[in-house]
Parts: sequence; structure tokens; C-alpha cells
Amino acid sequence: MRTRVRTFGIMALLGAVLFCGSATLAQQQQDFSKVQIKVTKVSGNIYMLEGAGGNIAASIGEDGIVIVDDQFAPLAEKIQAALKDLKITDKPVRFVINTHYHGDHSGGNEPFSNAGSTVIAQDNVRKRLESGGTAGNGGSIKMETKPAPKAALPIITFEHDVTVHLNGEDIRALHFPSGHTDGDSIIFFPKNNVVHMGDDFVRYGFPFIDVASGGSVQGMIDAMEKASAQLPADVKVIPGHGALSNLDDVRAFTKMLRETSAVVQKAINDHKTLEQMKQQKILEPWAKWKGDFVNEDAFIETLFNSLTGHKGEFMKHN
Ligand SMILES: [Zn+2]
Repeated sequence: MRTRVRTFGIMALLGAVLFCGSATLAQQQQDFSKVQIKVTKVSGNIYMLEGAGGNIAASIGEDGIVIVDDQFAPLAEKIQAALKDLKITDKPVRFVINTHYHGDHSGGNEPFSNAGSTVIAQDNVRKRLESGGTAGNGGSIKMETKPAPKAALPIITFEHDVTVHLNGEDIRALHFPSGHTDGDSIIFFPKNNVVHMGDDFVRYGFPFIDVASGGSVQGMIDAMEKASAQLPADVKVIPGHGALSNLDDVRAFTKMLRETSAVVQKAINDHKTLEQMKQQKILEPWAKWKGDFVNEDAFIETLFNSLTGHKGEFMKHN
């Protein structure tokens, strides 16, 4: 389990670093030509695809294909090939739904839209892809994103929710404000009893909360509580990163978020500085959640910045 958590941490780190396009270390390590797309049947006609970057959900049926998230542009052909290899349909990927704007989830938008897919996302996903800016936890995690090309921008956007009626299912994307970012959606496949949580729920340990892009720990907790409350007990949960999960995994994650944010809030109320919180290792009881991407100190920063409203700067590129 430790090894798996570490691996996902590294993958998440590579994904997150790569979306800024300037991380030479990550680029040296990440060779997309070696990435293989692993396909897992989740339930009925819903599949999960893993390669590099965020998990993909795919609804494949008589009307064609709908995917949730599309990893990185260099993987688009492999993703298309993996979908075709299932030999369920010759019809194309008609829609791509982005769970949020980060490049390890939306990096394939351009090749998919050039191949005829329609990209759908919450309003703020389009805004952030269009402008570029700085993602980060308001502290040590900081990543630059460049403005995305026109073809990468979602052409259908929504404020609150949207439903795609295909393959006999009402695939619903519902916006949860200010969690991992300010443009997150959770995607429900009610007939198949599957949900894709995006990066509001991940399995690499302490989550990256992009407070610089309007994310907040309270929003992430709210999203997990509200989504869990409307899901059947035996729902299959596709996390933003990591292995297929269930509601108990989501509850354990949410409990950790609640407990760690309460501890940091108490320290803020006691007028402790961020440095003091790190020195006193106030998240030590939750050390098993620390990962290579977000360690204890980085998560203290995240919670501190989120709870005090320190968002870092949102830099707009020319
Ligand atoms: Zn993300």
C-alpha cells in the first residue's frame, strides 16, 4: 500500500508539474512513448482508463463514446486506440467532459477536439484554460500554466450542471464550488452506479488543493459530504488519481480533511505562525497520508492558506 501511494504521488507530481510545461526534471523523467493505457471495466458499459495523469472514465455504447478527462495531448492516440480495442463500437468519442482545468486532466482537449469531439466543462475551466495563470497551494507548490490554444477550450460550458443523454444513461456533471479548484465537477453515471470525482477525491495521500485557482479545503469537504450523501452505498468511485474506490475510502479521506483542517484552524485561533505549526509537526498523527507530492509541511501550508484566505496570486499571462 505504501508503495502504491508513493507511485501515485509521483504520478500526480509529474502530472501537476507537467501542466506548467516548464519542468525539465519531470520532462526528462516522463517519456509518454512508454506510457501504456490500462483499461478496467468498472460496471455495465463504464470503463476506467489509466495511463499518465488523471483517471479517465468512459461510457461506451451504441451511441458512441463519452469520456471524462483526457490526460495529456501526446497520449490522445493511445487513448483512442485503447477505446477502439474494446471492439464495442466504431463510433467516435463524441463528448469529453473535463472535471477541472489542470493539464493532467484536460491536456488531451486539443487533439480530441481536432478529431471531432465536443469538450464540455464548467465555466471556470474555460476561463482558466483561456487565461493561463499560476496554480498552487499559496506556498511551496506553485506551477505556471500557459494560455491554452483555442482548440483546447471547452465549447460548451455550464454554471451549475449539465446532462449528456447517451448510451441509455443520463450522464450528469455537477459543479461543486471551490474545492480542488473553482471549476470542479463530479460526474455521475446513475444507471451504472459509477461516479468520477475528479481531484476532489484522490488516492495519493494528502490532496493538492489549488488555493491559487480558487480551491479550498472547506469546499472539498462540502463536495465530498454532499456527493456521498446522494450516492448509493455500493457505488463505484473513480478517483482523480489512484485505484478504483468505494464510499468507505471517500469517507476516510473526508474524515482526514475534517480532522486536519480542525487542527490547523485551532492553531490559527491560538495565534500560531505557519512556521510554528511546521516545527511542532501538528499533522504528525495523520503522517500515513503524506505523499511525495504533498508532504505534511505542504499540507499544513495548504490548510493554513485555505483557512486564512491567503490564495497566492492569480497571474494572468499576456
Ligand atoms: Zn487537479
